[in-house]
Amino acid sequence: MTNRPTVARTISTLRRSIQAYRDQGERIALVPTMGALHRGHVALVRAARRRAERVVVSIFVNPAQFAPHEDFGSYPRTFDTDLKALAEEQVELVWAPPPAVMYPDGFATRIAPEGAALAGLEDKFRPHFFGGVCTVVAKLFTQAMPDVALFGQKDYQQLRVVTQMASDLDLPVKVIGVPTVREKDGLALSSRNVYLSAPERAAAPVLHRVLRACATGIRAKEPVGAVIAAGRKEIAKAGFALDYLEARHALTLAPVTSRNDGPIRLLVAAKIGKTRLIDNLAV
Ligand code: AMP
Repeated sequence: MTNRPTVARTISTLRRSIQAYRDQGERIALVPTMGALHRGHVALVRAARRRAERVVVSIFVNPAQFAPHEDFGSYPRTFDTDLKALAEEQVELVWAPPPAVMYPDGFATRIAPEGAALAGLEDKFRPHFFGGVCTVVAKLFTQAMPDVALFGQKDYQQLRVVTQMASDLDLPVKVIGVPTVREKDGLALSSRNVYLSAPERAAAPVLHRVLRACATGIRAKEPVGAVIAAGRKEIAKAGFALDYLEARHALTLAPVTSRNDGPIRLLVAAKIGKTRLIDNLAV
């Protein structure tokens, strides 16, 4: 038997539950999500469980990180199924604030991250995105006051940006990255994969295949520029409109031209049909 988690919808309810945990001397881990949970999110919950007695999962489709032309309206919302999945993982508390609780009338503050948030990757194609993410994540951190917060490496630039923000703002939260969970054919799990038609789904693993081929090439000392150029061609050939395929410094996300420039992370974003997919891999 699994018990359904308690769902907090106001900050005072959330804080009461959190305070009760604190009074018992328990550590708290926060897993921020937008719902439509899959095995990737479950991996975050399990990683959280290893680090804290209490795991709080937030489910909030954050309007502040979507541009008007993006998929905020149609983003998959599967709240009941999500609660069942979290019950299976023995999660006891879900933080699911209505938009008006997160952003009451008159809300007028926005965090403007720099550094990795201006690396020319996601920020170039979604200029509003990291401001929206940082604003909501800073609020989630101060609302739930977790000891640790778990983020997926799947959204690698986001992980770097949030880690930097927590450090820059002296937020007393340890940000931890969790490896990407993939389908058997290499496609990174994403709530947006449900948008893919059958032929698009069949083409989608090319992103991971190309990342792996590029990593192998760079490790074998092939020139980074040539490896990336070949990867870009391969992705276009599979029917994707490429936003970027880049080799970057794994921490700063600054451009790199060789392995001597430091640890390398390969990052890709591309659209197939109407669906935009992102992925990344360590070299
Ligand atoms: P989202 O609900 O898409 O905003 O994602 C919530 C969290 O789950 C983020 O920290 C994501 O990086 C993480 N996540 C999403 N997909 C995966 C995946 N395939 N593997 C691991 N973490 C993931």
